[in-house]
Amino acid sequence: MNLVLFGPPGSGKGTQSERLVKQYAMTHISTGDALRSAIRQKTETGKKAQTLIEKGELVGDDLVTELLRDIIAPLRSNTDSFLFDGYPRTVTQVSRLNAICDEFRLTQPAVINLHVPEESLILRLTGRRICADCKSTFNVYFKPTRQAGVCDACAGPLTKRVDDSAETTRERLRVYHEQTAPVLGIYGELGALYTIDATGSSDNVFRKIHAIIEENY
Ligand code: ADP
Repeated sequence: MNLVLFGPPGSGKGTQSERLVKQYAMTHISTGDALRSAIRQKTETGKKAQTLIEKGELVGDDLVTELLRDIIAPLRSNTDSFLFDGYPRTVTQVSRLNAICDEFRLTQPAVINLHVPEESLILRLTGRRICADCKSTFNVYFKPTRQAGVCDACAGPLTKRVDDSAETTRERLRVYHEQTAPVLGIYGELGALYTIDATGSSDNVFRKIHAIIEENY
């Protein structure tokens, strides 16, 4: 079984991916994480992606697809199930993913769409804080730490993703509506799309995803 976890920025794709990977032995591929790692390592891809990510724009289809292919190629022989998080993000990327699935003999993915209203997305993103040391995540509005700026789990310093500023968040959401949401129409027609209300607790959302997988796969 291959899955695409789909949704706007802040819908909880990363959190739910972590849980799915634990439960179903899937290989998680987050193009956002891969791009951030490329930026940290100062690779050519990272250099091309950095300014775009900081502005809240999408990285080019060719660049991100090549990155995805390079991640899948060495893993394919040991992996039956991939969990795609943050890809496809444009209509073009849908056909690129189809081609990759054909090339690597992967079954076409089912798509789980996490729906969260816009007001919540803005608070989730602008309030998000991440521990620099243990990577635990908090939120100044919904899940504040006991001491401001200090991780509850390991006392490490909290950081903010550069693209979680108020201005870049607005741009990411605009780009989502313009370039990413149309992807839903394509998967809807193919009949492989499941949309869930992803506003509840992380446990609750996971239960819904779990139910879809158990019923259909
Ligand atoms: P979020 O879904 O919260 O925006 P991600 O970590 O998935 O976070 O992505 C962060 C940024 O990385 C995006 O705003 C975009 O610039 C870039 N990115 C990630 N995946 C893709 C993709 N499939 N196509 C183009 N750009 C991407």
